[in-house]
Amino acid sequence: MTATRAYGVPVVEDGALVSTNPATGEEVGRFPVADADDVARAVERAREAAAFWVGLGHAGRRARLLRWRALLAQRVEEVAGLVSREGGKPIAEAIVETAAAIDHIDWAARNAKRVLGPRRVRGRLTLAEFSAHLEYQPMGVVGVIGPWNYPVVTPLGTVAYALAAGNTVVFKPSEYTPAVGQWLVDTFAEVVPEQPVLQIVHGLGEVGAALCHAGVDKVAFTGSTATGKKVMAACAETLTPVLIEAGGKDALIVDDDADVAAAAEACVWGALTNAGQTCLAIERVYAVAPVYDAFVAEVVRRAGALKVGYGEGYDIGPITMPKQIDIIRRHIDDALVNGGRAVLGGREAVEPPFVHPTILVDVPEDSAAVREETFGPTLTISKVADVDEAVRLANASTYGLGGAVFGKRRAVAAARRLRTGMASVNSVITFIGMSSLPFGGVGNSGFGRTHGDDGLREFSRSKAITTRR
Ligand code: NAP
Repeated sequence: MTATRAYGVPVVEDGALVSTNPATGEEVGRFPVADADDVARAVERAREAAAFWVGLGHAGRRARLLRWRALLAQRVEEVAGLVSREGGKPIAEAIVETAAAIDHIDWAARNAKRVLGPRRVRGRLTLAEFSAHLEYQPMGVVGVIGPWNYPVVTPLGTVAYALAAGNTVVFKPSEYTPAVGQWLVDTFAEVVPEQPVLQIVHGLGEVGAALCHAGVDKVAFTGSTATGKKVMAACAETLTPVLIEAGGKDALIVDDDADVAAAAEACVWGALTNAGQTCLAIERVYAVAPVYDAFVAEVVRRAGALKVGYGEGYDIGPITMPKQIDIIRRHIDDALVNGGRAVLGGREAVEPPFVHPTILVDVPEDSAAVREETFGPTLTISKVADVDEAVRLANASTYGLGGAVFGKRRAVAAARRLRTGMASVNSVITFIGMSSLPFGGVGNSGFGRTHGDDGLREFSRSKAITTRR
């Protein structure tokens, strides 16, 4: 199926941001576009709302957040439907995403007091004259800037932790998924109607930048590495702390003692879920020589059976951002021109707004398909001599978000050696489903951590208080 126009491109009409379905062109919603003054006013209102939110204490915030969680759980199909219409992803994937987001709210609400509550600290001086306490205080107003690819779990993976830590939030969703962002904020207002504890500002291109300059106490950014650098530069002017969750180029290593069928099954899911538009997508595989042929054959068999299209019965939806199709096409071309081979898909796999699974082998390590984030349903598989070579090549990336190793004897040690924020052994991307584990990367994948204890502390300021007896 070939679209006749660039569906899915957000536009501004009569002061409203119009979002459309990337597969059908159907209009999904219209939202008022904010300007810098609107953003500044939202931050001001958020600052005023802080007294109410902080005043609820851990118990009060926990109760409200758990009500929000219950509301989302009741209406999971409604929001998942919206995610699918606005981003194009299969509804089953949208439901899984929403379930993970619900878990974040639950975990953050239930654990904030344990992680952030005041505690007594002992040390040499405290024995004699002093007692000492450590407190984690809210930072104030957190600006959250989100991407479109997981428009529920990604923002809620920061918003839930920021709110549970006692902050108020101004949220700028991606211009590709404003309807989903609005839905989340509206449901929060149903459980916290008293004050604008969580607000939304819509825009196209400039509102995220305005939020970085609006005097917030922290910016939590999730998006591309290039934009993350701009966010950091803007925040540097006022020394505003930032959390940067950026792009990835995750590698999967398959050792000779791996269960090859299990590795291939996990690889196909890790590479192709959400049409590969996942920061943690498996984009590179390093398989050791004895299992390489069997692994490639199994991946091709499984990936080739997936159905590409929009709606029920399809496994791989459209590419949400039309401009991303050019990048995917360039990576496939670059790999093929430089000696790579497509064992599935290839140039003809690109049929906007869809891209069929493309598996590339013999691709030089310095080609764009291996070095840059592709963000599409493509994968390179390289043959290596052993796990040491696999780890060396996996770590040659400028990115360092997640990674995975399949095998037995050397797998855990290899996972430890990956230069990434997260790693899975005999599974892929598993860490995303565990709210209790810290989430984040190194290098071009960013810094700081969301989720888990670290995620709550990320949105708090530690404060030492000593008292002379
Ligand atoms: P993006 O183009 O970088 O946009 C992300 C957000 O930044 C949008 O809301 C965008 O909205 C805003 N923005 C743009 N320019 C800005 C500026 N100068 N200052 C402040 N904000 C600005 O990323 P995307 O295409 O939406 O998302 C895909 C990327 O996100 C991929 O690279 C993916 O790997 C990454 N990602 C990372 C994670 C993770 O946890 N590490 C999770 C999901 C996605 P406006 O353009 O309207 O301002």
